[in-house]
Amino acid sequence: MELLPLAVPTAFQGSFSRHQRRVKCASETSEASFYGPKKFDTSSHNIPLSSAEVIYCSAPAMGHNKESHPESNLRVPSIMNALEELELTTKRSKYRGSQVIGLQDFKPASIDDIGRVHERAYVSGLEKAMSKASEDGLIFIEGSGPTYATPTTFQESLIAAGAGIALIDAVVTASKADLNPPIGFALIRPPGHHAVPDGPMGFCVFGNVAVAARYVQQVHGLKRVLIIDFDVHHGNGTCDAFYDDPDIFFISTHQAGSYPGTGKIEQIGQGNGEGTTLNLPLPGGSEDNSLLHTILHIHQILNLPSKIHYMMNYDAHVLDPLAGLQFTTGTYYMLASNIRQLAKDLCCGRCVFFLEGGYNLQSLSYSVADTFRALLGEPSIASQFDDPAILYEEPLTKAKQAIQKDDLSLGMHGRLNFIKSMYLFVEEVPIRECE
Ligand SMILES: [Zn+2]
Repeated sequence: MELLPLAVPTAFQGSFSRHQRRVKCASETSEASFYGPKKFDTSSHNIPLSSAEVIYCSAPAMGHNKESHPESNLRVPSIMNALEELELTTKRSKYRGSQVIGLQDFKPASIDDIGRVHERAYVSGLEKAMSKASEDGLIFIEGSGPTYATPTTFQESLIAAGAGIALIDAVVTASKADLNPPIGFALIRPPGHHAVPDGPMGFCVFGNVAVAARYVQQVHGLKRVLIIDFDVHHGNGTCDAFYDDPDIFFISTHQAGSYPGTGKIEQIGQGNGEGTTLNLPLPGGSEDNSLLHTILHIHQILNLPSKIHYMMNYDAHVLDPLAGLQFTTGTYYMLASNIRQLAKDLCCGRCVFFLEGGYNLQSLSYSVADTFRALLGEPSIASQFDDPAILYEEPLTKAKQAIQKDDLSLGMHGRLNFIKSMYLFVEEVPIRECE
């Protein structure tokens, strides 16, 4: 595959050999630096990125908050606390060494980055609305569903998207020298997968994954991208952004009938993009076995050997207040422990997870922590957090029937042709063609 010249982030310029490529580690700066990007700084305390297994960015958007709202500014700090408590982050790097790296010196996304997905009128309108938010303290964005904005929403949404872009740069750069690049994890908010090209929607401001997908195409020259979204809700914004695009394959599993009501199995893309959208709505109550069946179906679609791989999102947890699915911490471990292999099979291991949903702070935090453990190849500790007694029998037959509709009615042949010339990227993860 022909590649455009690789864009080199400022932090890497002038230090590009395998053993010299370095980023500054979060453990070596103040804790406050977790809470926002700074200028790239190449000056000190570098750690070789190629030795990392997980690389993450944290962008908690502390100013974007509404009292009692589930999408609150407690979410990312809660995750960070769990990761630190379980010795999974750089704060306790004496345990992790360079195995886990926190990228902190990343830039906000530019207006041009956002403009690859969203209409300029929306972006400039939101920026202008910040002055009204400054006067009123908090506003609701017209026509956006329950999406609020505060005076910092615009800037913090750019920061969230910028975190995803920084991870793309880091993972792609590392992969140039190492066939096993670290997996990225963007611990960011506000989330993005409901945001449509012309506006915000459902707690989401900018489509962070969609912005990253266009960035990886246009800046890194990686043509084909796979986006996999395991949220309890349909990722309608990401779906809309690429509905007629033959080069971006969007897969969403979600609870049938949940917000915003889109994501029917018959919605398979249109025009040149027909067959490159795969919606797999699951019946309420679905848990591990239904998910396993779903994953096997995705494998069939992706024309992979019948090895089992999984993927993810955190508001499908049984304890989540917005969920009707029965995923557990252990479910997320299973998803993550296999997705690295999936990424290796499809795209040389290039893979970035993006935080989207997840509103029960405890289940969210420990599910992300067990995800980290899975990515590090360590045993699950889900049994410390999961209570099997609260689960009821899942509607497996119904789930199988729902997925079977895809076999019967959709453009399987077109999808297989698409897959033959490999790619990958995800709503939790980007994927690409291997050179
Ligand atoms: Zn959701």
